[in-house]
Amino acid sequence: MSSAQDQHRGAARDAPTAGAPGASPGTVPVEASAHDLAPGAETGALRSTDQAAAEAIGSRRPLDLGQGGPVAASAAAATVGAGTTILGLPGIGAPLSPAFDAHHPPDAALVGDCVHCGFCLPTCPTYVLWGEEMDSPRGRIDIMKQGLEGDPLGADAVRHLDQCLGCMACVTACPSGVQYDKLIEATNAQLERRIERPRSQQLMRTAIYGLFPYPRRLRVLRGPLRAYQASGVGRLLARSGLLARLPEGLQAMEALAPQLGPVGRLAERTAATGTRRRTVGLLTGCVQGTFFPDVNAATVRVLAAEGCEVVVPRRQGCCGALSAHGGREAEAIAFAKAVITAFEAAGVETVVVNAAGCGSNMKEYGHQLRDEPGWPERATALAAKVRDITELLAELGPAAERHPLPMKVAYQDACHLAHAQGIREQPRQLLRGVPGIELKELVEADICCGSAGTYNLLNPEPARELGERKARAVLGTGAQMMVTANPGCWMQVATTLERMGERMPVAHTVQVLDASIRGLPVDQLLTMALDGPGTAVPRIPAGRDSVPAPSTP
Ligand code: SF4
Ligand code: SF4
Repeated sequence: MSSAQDQHRGAARDAPTAGAPGASPGTVPVEASAHDLAPGAETGALRSTDQAAAEAIGSRRPLDLGQGGPVAASAAAATVGAGTTILGLPGIGAPLSPAFDAHHPPDAALVGDCVHCGFCLPTCPTYVLWGEEMDSPRGRIDIMKQGLEGDPLGADAVRHLDQCLGCMACVTACPSGVQYDKLIEATNAQLERRIERPRSQQLMRTAIYGLFPYPRRLRVLRGPLRAYQASGVGRLLARSGLLARLPEGLQAMEALAPQLGPVGRLAERTAATGTRRRTVGLLTGCVQGTFFPDVNAATVRVLAAEGCEVVVPRRQGCCGALSAHGGREAEAIAFAKAVITAFEAAGVETVVVNAAGCGSNMKEYGHQLRDEPGWPERATALAAKVRDITELLAELGPAAERHPLPMKVAYQDACHLAHAQGIREQPRQLLRGVPGIELKELVEADICCGSAGTYNLLNPEPARELGERKARAVLGTGAQMMVTANPGCWMQVATTLERMGERMPVAHTVQVLDASIRGLPVDQLLTMALDGPGTAVPRIPAGRDSVPAPSTP
């Protein structure tokens, strides 16, 4: 056990128990207990075999994590009660007992599908970072199993669960077909509903879930954020050291905010060019619509050019992906119902999504609304119409002429496209269909970049490490541009590259297709992509007089 864990356990022992003043009704504050699973599970022959496997894939040994060093500290601070010393907050409560209540606990049959083969370990980002069995899919499934068998959930167990990115790399890697996605979704909902987190974590979560799923609130934020970016106050704050004194989550939020420009309003209906092949509805998305308006505009243009009539329902809101990912079940269900109603009214054949996290969430609506009277059939029908933009374009086949874009492109698989939706080939096929594009593959393509919904805000340190790993992989391709399918990956990798002093143009697949169909010169595309996702007017950054030249592979 690390000293950080020891430190936490000591602090937790001194803490008041569940039901003490300050505990929220209906929630149970959690502390570490003798029943915590990690220590026992991390010993013995299995432990050393796992460690060898971990080191083979570049994991650091627990000792290398630095006892109480930045990663260990961030890992501890990320979860319930674990940050008692680090965050300067009192430890609280008793282990969560029973571990799960009767409302959709993790399914014991799905837990039983895991045969402990370990094939998933090398694809799990947290296992790759720390080489800890309990931070692997297999370890987390063991935590769920022991919880189902009657063991309480202590703070360490909750921390291992909280540190899961929900990237679903383990789902695609598992030869036994273990549905880890269903297991972690059920577990996250139990934790979110039943535990009380330290106040600073609770405030951060309240800020995140009270802001990002609400496009109107995000639009209100755009003005002050643009003024902040234009004023250079951020640079002054950074130089003065004041920025570094903010909580880590707020620092991450400040760093990740994309460069903003004016937003054009999308037409409610755009006619197909030539013969109409399909009538589609577009989910504009919360973060995508507010911070990445160019992606939505490009999506409409490409769909129309490829023979689709595009409907953009005015009364659509958040699809519920962030809430579902964060275990906020009731909120996710309410968002899903509103989106289903909006797209049913639009009367479209297909619902197109250009953010991987939203698409994967909407394809699960049937499962999410299974208990809601009158909704399962509607939810399943809507889910069956959902297509990622690249999935639909590959299905339709090209109709519009592609003009050459001679450049090297590194394609980064978004986890919620590749792992959660199984969409890997379609974007590559579309990019290869543009004359002049040379497609480059990343090493460790299956490992998450650390964005993972709100993970990089709630767990900034491990997210930073994963971001740097991904940024190095992108740079290693020698490409001139990175292409991805999720706003979260875009912000994470672009921000990391910038922090490393290595700015690179980043674009969505559909923006590359749009540039090719419109016949934009490659330099113009690279300049706009370097400038940021929401900037209509290309801007050359200070210190540069042109976009980066092609690097030598
Ligand atoms: S979802 Fe990702 S982070 Fe979580 S256990 Fe699976 S591979 Fe690891
Ligand atoms: S989740 Fe799948 S791959 Fe991982 S240990 Fe269990 S059976 Fe093996």
